[in-house]
Amino acid sequence: MVLRALEAEGHEQLVFSRDEQTGLRCIVAIHSTRLGPGLGGVRIRRYDSEDAAVEDVMRLSQAMSYKNACAGLDFGGAKGVILGPLPDDRLAVMRAMGRIVEGLGGRYVATEDMGMTESDVATMRQETQFAVGMSRRDGGSGDPSPHTAEGVFVGMRAALRAAGLGSDFADVRVAVQGCGKVGLGLIARLVQAGAQVMAADTDEVGVNAARTAGARIVSPDEILAVQAEVLAPCAVGAVLNERSIPGLRCQVIAGGANNQLATPEDASRLKDRGIVYAPDFVINAGGVINVGDELAAGGYDERRVATRVAAIEQTLDDIFREAEHSGSTTAQLAVKRAQRRIRAGR
Ligand code: NAD
Repeated sequence: MVLRALEAEGHEQLVFSRDEQTGLRCIVAIHSTRLGPGLGGVRIRRYDSEDAAVEDVMRLSQAMSYKNACAGLDFGGAKGVILGPLPDDRLAVMRAMGRIVEGLGGRYVATEDMGMTESDVATMRQETQFAVGMSRRDGGSGDPSPHTAEGVFVGMRAALRAAGLGSDFADVRVAVQGCGKVGLGLIARLVQAGAQVMAADTDEVGVNAARTAGARIVSPDEILAVQAEVLAPCAVGAVLNERSIPGLRCQVIAGGANNQLATPEDASRLKDRGIVYAPDFVINAGGVINVGDELAAGGYDERRVATRVAAIEQTLDDIFREAEHSGSTTAQLAVKRAQRRIRAGR
């Protein structure tokens, strides 16, 4: 059963582990190491069932393969999930997770994901060299979100061009959903570039920060359907779906959130409406570009990171150009592009 599931999506390995002392239970899925070690976060989450956890980790590891391949990184894709609730002794759990990662001998490079912090990575690092994304203070590459925001900003420029709206943000209306780390970084760049930014957040802290940064505040219930040239989802996944797409009043979707499409069919729904969609895993790769650089020969180099993040604009230009002459959606073309690079190997 499990082997057949691995074959179906081209995964290499699925590893189930438990740690007697701490009670840690985790699964690591390695989708592909053709381009290099599988790089991806460790997610801490409560699942309804073990099957749900397996499905999630397999889907997420494949998505990391595609994200890393499209970003031009020499990393494959992998992901870890720690099955919640997290046992009490967090430090001991993270050390145990570090030992599990170390046991995979470098096939998996772990970083932070939902439920984890930079200091958890530092704890894992006590047990393994194959964990990246520590704070600058601890000698790591630091907060990835400014790099993610920069990638979304330059990628949005490519999407504007593809929609025939030019490359200039002056007076372009952008609706930003979610004013957290990525959303605020994006808002700051957009305001600086002369865009008219509208923003929404379900949390007062985000709302206040967005207002201070120069955005006009819109209710979270209205943000997806406001009249704007661009919609930038920067909060949660699955916001582009059968219910929301008919009500969209934008020409471009370019945002940092992961898994923006509820189903693959939603990419076709956007295409049918003539909305230019920047595939999320291409435009939001700035963060993984940043953490991955920690393992580069010679160590982390902020200038190399900046160059790679800037290249997201060209990658999207290529995808949008291909989409003009193809019946495929931009999301399908991005997956094909990743698969081509993975097949070719390093
Ligand atoms: P964050 O937690 O700092 O910010 C998310 C914000 O969205 C919060 O302020 C939250 O209150 C708000 N929010 C939640 N639900 C909302 C809703 N329904 N309407 C409006 N606002 C809502 O997270 P982040 O690091 O900024 O990441 C944002 C998204 O980008 C996530 O999907 C994340 O997976 C993705 N992402 C982040 C990075 C990164 O470098 N941080 C990299 C790649 C992808």
